[in-house]
Amino acid sequence: MLRPMHATAQVQIPATPASDAAAAVVARLRLAGYSTFWVGGCVRDLLLGRQPKDYDVATAATPKQVTALFAQVVQVGASFGVVRVRWSGPDGVPVEVEVATFRADGPYSDGRRPDSVRFTDAREDVLRRDFTLNGLLLDPLAGPSCGQVVDWVGGLADLDRRVLRAIGEPAQRFGEDALRLLRAPRFAARFGLNVEPATAAAIRALAPTLRIVSVERIHLEVLAMLLGPEPGRALSLLVDLQLAAALWPVLTAWDPALCRAIARAEGLSLLAESHHAGALPACNAVDPMLAVASLAGDAVAWPASQEYAASICLPRLADLAVRRVLTLAHGCPLRDPAPAPWSPVVARWLRDPWADHALVLLAARQPTQPWPQWRALRAAWPLAAAFPALGFDGDDLQRWGYRPGPAFKQALAAAEDVRLAGGDLPAAEQAARAILALNA
Ligand code: ATP
Ligand code: MG
Repeated sequence: MLRPMHATAQVQIPATPASDAAAAVVARLRLAGYSTFWVGGCVRDLLLGRQPKDYDVATAATPKQVTALFAQVVQVGASFGVVRVRWSGPDGVPVEVEVATFRADGPYSDGRRPDSVRFTDAREDVLRRDFTLNGLLLDPLAGPSCGQVVDWVGGLADLDRRVLRAIGEPAQRFGEDALRLLRAPRFAARFGLNVEPATAAAIRALAPTLRIVSVERIHLEVLAMLLGPEPGRALSLLVDLQLAAALWPVLTAWDPALCRAIARAEGLSLLAESHHAGALPACNAVDPMLAVASLAGDAVAWPASQEYAASICLPRLADLAVRRVLTLAHGCPLRDPAPAPWSPVVARWLRDPWADHALVLLAARQPTQPWPQWRALRAAWPLAAAFPALGFDGDDLQRWGYRPGPAFKQALAAAEDVRLAGGDLPAAEQAARAILALNA
């Protein structure tokens, strides 16, 4: 049901290059006579006292009219009414501001996107948006360093009560675009909101329609939830809203309430932190996959995690990486942390390129164990010690008078074991010769 425009609120606007540029873009459009506001995520974030990621502008000007007003405009989706304005502030550094023409969506015949759009006014533009907290407008020029929120959808009251509510008739809105089914738990988890009962009921009823959403879009939403601030809450919501069962029937058959994954939610946050800090060496693209490994539990649960991997469209390499990480974590030989040299078994485990990931995963599962110390020890381990010189190779073994065969490999491995355990070059050669002599 539509609420009248009953609510307005003042909000503080932090002065940043992005907010200054977005306010300047509003000012110029207004001066040219076009009704213009900030809209969506930035208004919500300011009301919640958070720093907006970006500032989106919505305007009555058409893309052509916007393009005529600014020196630099990047055309990104003019048919949907969206362009990007490049605005240079006083320091000359350009900031891109997304400017979208107020629009109303035509019918959604495929459950994904509107067949057509038409340009309209501000009020209709907010009515096409997904949730009340995302349907707020803000006039950034209302006062010095503060803005005036304009609310046609009851978003202010919902934010006050910490409720996530679909704009309009929930079943119709989720029927238009099934991706909104996943956006709901993502926003609810991120901002600690309760999903309003009618909205939740519509999500449950329409959960099976998730199958029409492309795997790429599901992938992005699920990763955003797992790597977001509240992965455990996001997973609980997916279960509660019956979305988990629609996404991962095998996984939920094995663990209907995703108890194991939720119990490891802290671990998911840890993984997310390393993801953001780029702390894991050379494998950032695969870090989210560790979240998968953590979610899946262990190698025993692999069929479930495989299904999960497929549902979020894991590239094959990452799939192999997850297997490797799980296998390493499963067979981890590390005990009490101690400086190198280590036994050959420990050293070989530690020098695996995926060992650091396995340690992160173990740390996620067993927060009281000394896995961080092992990570530090590994990080300080010189490459030359991890892959020590032997002083000889296969050609030398032939020169010593032996014929190539399986014993060569064993001899080289035995020599390497000696070196890994801290032995010197003569001791390594002695170990190799002993094996060769035995097999001669
Ligand atoms: P975030 O901080 O995650 O980017 P956001 O609110 O900016 O949050 P976006 O996905 O960037 O989210 O979308 C911008 C705005 O566009 C939303 O606030 C919402 O008003 C609208 N919107 C985005 N996706 C949809 C959708 N699938 N259905 C309806 N409205 C949507
Ligand atoms: Mg956004």
